[in-house]
Formats: sequence, C-alpha cells, structure tokens
Amino acid sequence: MRLLRIGAPGAEVPAVLGEDGAAFDLSGLTRDIDGDFLASGGIDRVREALAAGSLPALDTDGLRVGAPLARPGKVVCIGLNYRDHAEETGAAAPERPVVFMKDPSTVVGPYDEVLIPRGSVKTDWEVELAVVIGREARYLADPAAAAACIAGYTISNDVSEREFQLEYSAQWDLGKSCETFNPMGPWLVTPDEVDDPQALGLRLSVNGEVRQNGDTKNMIFEIPYLVWYLSQYMVLRPGDVINTGTPAGVALGLPGTPYLRDGDTVELAVDGLGTQRQTFHNA
Ligand code: ZN
Repeated sequence: MRLLRIGAPGAEVPAVLGEDGAAFDLSGLTRDIDGDFLASGGIDRVREALAAGSLPALDTDGLRVGAPLARPGKVVCIGLNYRDHAEETGAAAPERPVVFMKDPSTVVGPYDEVLIPRGSVKTDWEVELAVVIGREARYLADPAAAAACIAGYTISNDVSEREFQLEYSAQWDLGKSCETFNPMGPWLVTPDEVDDPQALGLRLSVNGEVRQNGDTKNMIFEIPYLVWYLSQYMVLRPGDVINTGTPAGVALGLPGTPYLRDGDTVELAVDGLGTQRQTFHNA
C-alpha cells in the first residue's frame, strides 16, 4: 500500500492509493498517519477497508502533498553509508555506522519550498531511502528481527549545510537541522510492495542535471543491520524515521562544489517510492 497525506500544512487529510493510483480518504479510520496510527495496527485496518471497498474517494487534484508521516518522533541518520560517498568526502569507510540526529520538525512535504539558511554558502542535497518504524525496536536479538519493526519506506532529502556541519562544530547536527531540511515522501510504501529494499536505484538532479545515481545495494550497513544496531543503543518507536545514508554525487564531493543557490530546483527519485521536487529559496 501507498499511504499519503493531502492538503495544507498542518491540515493534511490521511489517504491511501488504490491499485490504479486513485486516492481514498482515511479520515473515517484515523485522525492522521503518525506513530499512534502505526502502533495501533492502522496499516492492517486500512488494508481491510481498502479490500472491502468501503473507503470514500478523495479528489487530490491540485492539492499539496504533505510528508506521509505526521510528527515523526525522531529522525536518526546514518552518515557515510555508501562507499562511493565516503570516498568523495575524503572519509574512510566507517567500521561502525556513523549515527547522528536530525530535528524531526525539519520534515516537510516532498514538493514544498526548502529554505537556504541565513548565512549559508554550502547548502547541499542528499537523496536517501528512509525507513519508518512501525513497532518498538529495543535490544533486538539479531538483524532478522528488524523486519517486524518496519512499517514501510519513503524518500528523504537529507538537506545539509556543510559549513555549519563540518566547520562550526565537531558534531554534525548544526548543519542538519535547519528549517525545512528534510523533505519526505510522497508516499509511505509498505514492505510488501518493495521487492528488495537493497536493490533500489536512487537518483537526484539539480536544475535538470543528474548529480546522484546510486543503488541501495551499495550500502555499507544494510537496513536490518542498522535497525538492530540502533536498537542496542536507543529505543526505536513507531513513527521514528531512519535516513539510511546517501550515495556519491553531493555538492561537497563534486568539482567546483556546486552548492545550492536561491531558485535552484532539486528532483529526487527512488525506484518504487515516487519522486520529489523542491525549489530552494533564501530564508
Ligand atoms: Zn544523509
């Protein structure tokens, strides 16, 4: 299933897409698509209602698409998780996952405007596969236990300000949590619709020029390992998100470091998970 949220910021209507792509209104089933919805078996209820044909149609024409998950509990990010990206940044391939946090209030819709922070000269892009947690993961016994904790997958643009991230502080968070820095969506795609999450192409272009063209098969630490690993150090809860890292091709690693400027448009795609498009403007 593909779950989504349609409407103005803060007033999104929860929805699901049928097989033919038509949208159905979920507001009779749930107030929103959030951690409580996922924790209480919401996805199963939607699946039953969709199969029963009992959901009202929703006209989405011309309406904004919001992030597919309301109020994420936390956004945990994995750095340098693709060998080619570690190389382009001059970093060694890590022996353990590089873990940092992103302020969950940075999450915006997949087609929303993104703000270049005041004083920024190094705003950069990162296309990523995002994992949404649907069941608590606490001290998982092994990576095989991770699948039961995953509600689905979506796309994140882990927007980053490299000067704030790398030059202002030993911790990366300052350059990762600026306003609007996590476009997410368009859909939360359930695992049954993703054949192999470790075989998905990821692409990103800036003003029509391809910059990133990777594949999740090149992750250093794969998704089940990451969920298991994180669960040894923190409790992952329904509605939490893991941004699993970005392949090569970010501005930081490109000749001439072509960081984003006012008016630039970034387009992202991950196989089976849809597309995003954001125009960047000065805050
Ligand atoms: Zn990232």
